[in-house]
Amino acid sequence: MQSHAKVVVIGGGVVGCSILYHLAKLGLNDVVLLERKELTSGSSWHAAGIIHTINSDSNIARLQGYTINLYKELEELTGQSCGIHRPGGIYLASTRERYDYLKQERAKARYLGLDSDFISLEHARELNPLIDPKKYVGALFEPVDGHVDPSGVTHAYAKGARHYGAKIHRECPVIETNPLPDGTWNVVTPQGTINAEVVVNAGGLWAREVGRLAGIDLPVQPFEHHYIITETIPEVRDHGKEVAVTVDYEGNTYTRQEHDGLLYGTYELKPQAWAVNGTPQDFAAELLPDDLGRISERLEIIFDRMPALANAGIKKVVNGPFTFGPDGNPLIGPVPGLRNYWSAVGVMAGFCQGGGVGLCMAEWIINGEPGIDVWGMDVARFGNFATRDWGTIKSRENYSRRFRLTYPNETLPEGRRQKTTALYDRFIERGAVMGVSFGLEHALWFAGSKDKAEETPTFRRSNAFSYVADEVKAVREHVGMIEIANYAKHEFKGPGAAAFLDRLLANKLPKTGRLALSPMLTPKGKLYGDLTVGKLDHETFMLFGSGAAQDMHRRWFEMQMPRTGVTYRNVTDELHGFAISGPKARTLLSRLTRDDVSNGALKFRDIRRMVVADVPVILTRVSFSGELGYEIYCAPQFHMRLFEALEAAGADLGVRLYGGRALMSMRLEKNWGVWTLDFRPDFTAAESGLDAFIAFDKTADFIGKAAAKADKPAKRLVTMIVDTKDVDCLGDEPIFHGGKCVGYVTSGGYAHHVRKSMALGYVPTQCAGDGTELEIELLGDFYKARVVARPVYDPDGQRMRS
Ligand SMILES: Cc1cc2nc3c(=O)[nH]c(=O)nc-3n(C[C@H](O)[C@H](O)[C@H](O)COP(=O)(O)OP(=O)(O)OC[C@H]3O[C@@H](n4cnc5c(N)ncnc54)[C@H](O)[C@@H]3O)c2cc1C
Repeated sequence: MQSHAKVVVIGGGVVGCSILYHLAKLGLNDVVLLERKELTSGSSWHAAGIIHTINSDSNIARLQGYTINLYKELEELTGQSCGIHRPGGIYLASTRERYDYLKQERAKARYLGLDSDFISLEHARELNPLIDPKKYVGALFEPVDGHVDPSGVTHAYAKGARHYGAKIHRECPVIETNPLPDGTWNVVTPQGTINAEVVVNAGGLWAREVGRLAGIDLPVQPFEHHYIITETIPEVRDHGKEVAVTVDYEGNTYTRQEHDGLLYGTYELKPQAWAVNGTPQDFAAELLPDDLGRISERLEIIFDRMPALANAGIKKVVNGPFTFGPDGNPLIGPVPGLRNYWSAVGVMAGFCQGGGVGLCMAEWIINGEPGIDVWGMDVARFGNFATRDWGTIKSRENYSRRFRLTYPNETLPEGRRQKTTALYDRFIERGAVMGVSFGLEHALWFAGSKDKAEETPTFRRSNAFSYVADEVKAVREHVGMIEIANYAKHEFKGPGAAAFLDRLLANKLPKTGRLALSPMLTPKGKLYGDLTVGKLDHETFMLFGSGAAQDMHRRWFEMQMPRTGVTYRNVTDELHGFAISGPKARTLLSRLTRDDVSNGALKFRDIRRMVVADVPVILTRVSFSGELGYEIYCAPQFHMRLFEALEAAGADLGVRLYGGRALMSMRLEKNWGVWTLDFRPDFTAAESGLDAFIAFDKTADFIGKAAAKADKPAKRLVTMIVDTKDVDCLGDEPIFHGGKCVGYVTSGGYAHHVRKSMALGYVPTQCAGDGTELEIELLGDFYKARVVARPVYDPDGQRMRS
């Protein structure tokens, strides 16, 4: 065995083989895959092999489309059959709410270039003669869906990888992965040790064990999963063509044809986690004992909806384990905190997603960034809060909800209160409806009392509407306060900090005591951050940004940082505090500090260390609400004290707690985008408008400078007023111009102060002009939308500067 490799992939399931294939295909020759037994010794061999494109994350849906279309090409290249069947897929809704969900999926497909569309229930029955149309209210048809042979696909990837020069060693278990000071890894096997520049954990069922070899815990968990293959069913045999793959959401079933019968499976509500304390090393290409009793309740529903199934004889029952992640999507990419160690685990739909995962991993390893934004799959979306137990709890929840509807305003109940601030109980007492971001609980809105603190899950406006309206009113007219523990805070110190940040950030660094907004770009000029940078003293800087993206940003900083001269710490959990904003914010602040906080003394975009309410704080004069505002950061042990003081001092000013929903409403009327929605690596600075914060004239050759300079954007982020009455955009709705789909919404909602439904989205430059009339498809209906170039609220930003 060779002693060195550019990349060592651990695991020869469908995911590892696809990564190897893509690395080799994209030109990396020195790449090796190590498999402890034979290829497909984990979950890959016994999959049902169903392929479909639907995914709630549009980019993952795109990658699923890529995967499905790859199979033909793989067969042609390798001569290895992938067993492709493409009878199309039907998605059945039996409730109005699920029908709404399908309308959203269909709308999304329009801009993704997919052909899915609604068909009549009679047509659905023609495609699957077993279904009882009376049980349903709607059916969506996706022509590319079908199924493949799992073993054939995995071997085709392996064969294709070898074709491009990659090597595969079977019967070669990795028993140690040891990091070396130069950033490489020694990958130890009984057959020898390979020094690898990059290690990829594609250990599937053993992802956790492979992770432990590198000292990390990955929050994934295998679950038992049953499917049943029937004897011949006359309706199937006599159908004349292959029965369409069918997903019945409320029936919680998937089915596909297998010979003259059907294969059907279900996701039970009380799933059985498998090997919680570790996947046995001697397990390989095995099945687990069946336990049909566990799924019998689910089967009753299926039999009611597809009566012929009830009478079909059972030919085979498969109960096999496969691995789930906390939100059902894979965990891929460089693992924050480790050098050159990559994850490709928790891929629960390897035959839908494996190709896309392989492509993104290969592009990312070779080019330093994937071709599209992979946030929905990025391992960095989970931080140290994602412990082993939490991983099991959330993965269980996700398994049980596989076919259950999750509404856009719904926050899932399991694994909650993993991280809280000191005020959690008080907020609950005041009727806070809590959300969660990067493991931390934060208030979405306040119902006023505990007994009212429940939000109805819906695609439309919820019972939160009037409460959020009141919160917005309090901020716009008086003063509001919101917890900011969930904002990310990054601290850079040292003599080399300024030079490093000058290269990292596209804007000029501020002077001491000042703040600047700055995009952070990738070498290709894509957005990688939208940060506020503050200079506290000559060699201390703070960066404030998206809380959800804190580990993604940490990873980026650590990858770019020089070895000496600058130290970095993610201090998010060390700084809690409040943002206060509204016309009376200054009065409130002035009551709690001896410092002069007049407009002349504490200017818009100032940052300083000071004492507020006897608490040492870092204070920034900025606001995301568009009002005069201050963000006051304090250590967690002072958080309660600061809160009590703010409330007491602000009582006669009408101070009011508000939550994230009100903030998101207020930023809409200011035309401000947010990270993970409107700003993300799918877009460039010029497309998003953040190029306004790029200092092209600064001397530092900041990352992405050349690409950003050369950028001639064909599309732009615009803000639109949407002509709706009782429904608002959520994101992912297609935008039309002259009857043609030209773009899509990235975020939306109701702007309570200006009383308008608003949305942000990307459209071609020629459709981005002020006043352009567009149309948006929202839950199956078309609404007029008009581009507004300037904010509808305080367009010149007088209030923040007042
Ligand atoms: C019953 C069932 C039905 C399914 N149906 C579908 C479906 O219809 N569609 C779909 O897309 N997906 C389906 N899946 C899921 C699919 O099987 C998985 O998504 C896929 O197998 C994951 O592949 P993987 O490569 O990540 O993991 P695995 O297949 O588990 O591969 C991991 C590999 O790593 C190797 N390995 C582990 N540790 C080491 C080590 N230390 N050194 C060297 N090698 C190591 C293992 O031997 C194994 O071969 C189904 C799964 C099951 C169980």
